[in-house]
Amino acid sequence: MTPTTLNQKPINDANRLGLDYRAEAKGFGYGGPIIDIHTHIGTVDAARLYFEIADLFGVTKTVSMTKLENIDAITEAYGDRIEFIAVPNYEAAREPGTFTTDWLYRMEKFREKGCRIIKFWAAPRGRDLHAEAFHMDSPTRKESIKLAYDLGYRIFMTHIGDPDTWFATKYTDPKKYGTKRGQFEPLEDLLDEYDDVTWIGAHMGGSPEDLDFVQGMLDRHPNYVLDTSAAKWQVRELSKHADQFRAFCERNAGRVLFGTDIVANDGNIDFDLYASRYWALRTLIETKYDGLSPIVDPDLSMVDPSLDEKSTAELRGAGIGGEALKAVYYGAAERVLG
Ligand SMILES: [Zn+2]
Repeated sequence: MTPTTLNQKPINDANRLGLDYRAEAKGFGYGGPIIDIHTHIGTVDAARLYFEIADLFGVTKTVSMTKLENIDAITEAYGDRIEFIAVPNYEAAREPGTFTTDWLYRMEKFREKGCRIIKFWAAPRGRDLHAEAFHMDSPTRKESIKLAYDLGYRIFMTHIGDPDTWFATKYTDPKKYGTKRGQFEPLEDLLDEYDDVTWIGAHMGGSPEDLDFVQGMLDRHPNYVLDTSAAKWQVRELSKHADQFRAFCERNAGRVLFGTDIVANDGNIDFDLYASRYWALRTLIETKYDGLSPIVDPDLSMVDPSLDEKSTAELRGAGIGGEALKAVYYGAAERVLG
């Protein structure tokens, strides 16, 4: 597939190719339903534009990390099209209790509202927000995981690690941030300890750079599945081994869930921003496109300062089709959500 609308729209950081995403959305081969298992839909106003774009790209159900206080209004407007993942109140990240007492309180409140999925975010940069709450093996974290289990949550989403590019640049103090591989050791213990919970490893389990490592995680832990979210990261890394990514999705059909990590807030209501994530990820997954990504990827110039700040990654489509594609887009998430 080649885009048919190159240079037809104004250029911006989410659209360096000038694509008409509305027209491009009609050009994909797959016409079935899609579940997006990983979004951050913040408000009703942002949801309005988000769902217009979800419709264009065939997304029939959206799973979102949304602030507790906003989920009633979004549910009222969109009903079953959206389901929520329990998260702490990141807007109050600097207030004491946000990741301890207030988080435990919120876990209960989300559950009372019917929420079945909970996110345990453990990116190394969390350690800048709270000294120990984001370590997967800290007492604070273990208490919250235990409470989640006791409250009846049986789908835990995690974010472990971060891009290799960040460990090469931002996380240079291993005493503070640890090594990338070390992030996964406490996760492996938890996968065994809570083996009747389905764990979703966000962002291709945090390691799109090394699918052999991710395969080992899947092989050791039958209760572990992945999502494809974080468009820039996945496009940059999976394009480097697109054939391996296709074989990986075929081999692990039912355990790779489509997700984007679209963040839709009052501060960023922007058609190209949301649409570019669907265009780029669908192009990566189901087409044989070989060209530039339309999305500016700041990691490229961060790692190689000789590159232009507006550089975009090479995007090579994996060309996944048939049952494997249906599983990524729908079947895997349907199985997990039940
Ligand atoms: Zn996310």
